[in-house]
Amino acid sequence: MKMESQLAQIGSQVDPETGAVSCPVYQATAFRHPKLGQSTGFDYSRTKSPTRAVLEEATAQLEKGDAGFACSSGMAALQTVFAYFSQGDHLIVSLDLYGGTYRLLERIMSRFGVSASYVDTNDIDDMTAALQVNTRALLIETPTNPLMMITDLERACSWAKSKGLLSIVDNTLLTPYLQRPIELGADIVVHSATKYLGGHNDVLAGLIVTKGEELSSEMAILHNSIGAVLGPQDSWLLMRGMKTLALRMERHEYNATTIAEYLLEHPAVEDVYYPALPHHPGHDIQKRQASGNTGIFSFRLKDARYVEPVLCHIRLIAFAESLGGVESLMTYPAVQTHADIPEEIRRAVGVDDRLLRFSVGIEHADDLIADLEQALEAARLELEQ
Ligand SMILES: *Cc1c(COP(=O)(O)O)cnc(C)c1O
Repeated sequence: MKMESQLAQIGSQVDPETGAVSCPVYQATAFRHPKLGQSTGFDYSRTKSPTRAVLEEATAQLEKGDAGFACSSGMAALQTVFAYFSQGDHLIVSLDLYGGTYRLLERIMSRFGVSASYVDTNDIDDMTAALQVNTRALLIETPTNPLMMITDLERACSWAKSKGLLSIVDNTLLTPYLQRPIELGADIVVHSATKYLGGHNDVLAGLIVTKGEELSSEMAILHNSIGAVLGPQDSWLLMRGMKTLALRMERHEYNATTIAEYLLEHPAVEDVYYPALPHHPGHDIQKRQASGNTGIFSFRLKDARYVEPVLCHIRLIAFAESLGGVESLMTYPAVQTHADIPEEIRRAVGVDDRLLRFSVGIEHADDLIADLEQALEAARLELEQ
């Protein structure tokens, strides 16, 4: 079955008794045992819960993995995955990393003796130089956020395999509709489902998908032991969002491409970072390994003094953190999402005070361009005074 059909049908055939087309929400935390030593498959909802199980099964299928695990947030999913490692283990991680993941590694995991090196995961020499005797895994974000750097997943995962490392991919920005890392050699996929999978800026959730029996049963133990699991109502809300994922991603990409092209021509803009644009260094790899582009891009203004008035004058576009929802949001990474990353690292990767990130929603592209146009013009007039 094509993914569009799989998505639209999530949870719609799980209750043959009533024929309910929407997945029932099972609020129960405890389940009767038919007999001593027997179980319906459900005992206690932290371990396994019926509504969450439908979401987990669907996610594993979409990502072409063997098991899915729904968590209370993307960070909870990453924490659960990091708990797979032990004191003394080392990870090689994408340089231009999500700020929260960097903070989790540097402030929390470091206290448990798990260390990380941040490198360009598209550069085999960089990764080889970072390799230590205790390196256990490679963690990749592609595209990265906010600079949209692309990693060749097939090449990176095959390098990791040859060094005996596990490959973990944060697939938040593309979703399984556009990119399936497990098919390209990854062992674990993680998501902040708060973003495109939920899609409406109204549910906080995380997902993990594992490949292979051993890894899947180990992850089930970690998921149950840590307990940062997704509740039944939020599992339902996430499935409701995922039904329209294909339609939304297509509109996000169309809008983002249209607006990226507009901004690239704008006199106040120095550059636009979006893999759909032919001048982007990751354009060809992205085209090969994914079936489309995300709805997020960043752009660098020529003058840092434009930032404040632009953020102040946008009306339809909200000045807010987060990404991946139907509503357009604009973020200032240097002071918001990436504030926890030390300035020298931020500058080295290019997250400076002239960079804005735009999560393009599904509004009409003409209205979004008009909003940008008036905000940029208002900024120009203010600076001329
Ligand atoms: C938002 C985000 C996270 C964290 O997810 P939450 O749902 O906010 O906890 C992790 N990785 C990426 C790439 C993200 O965008």
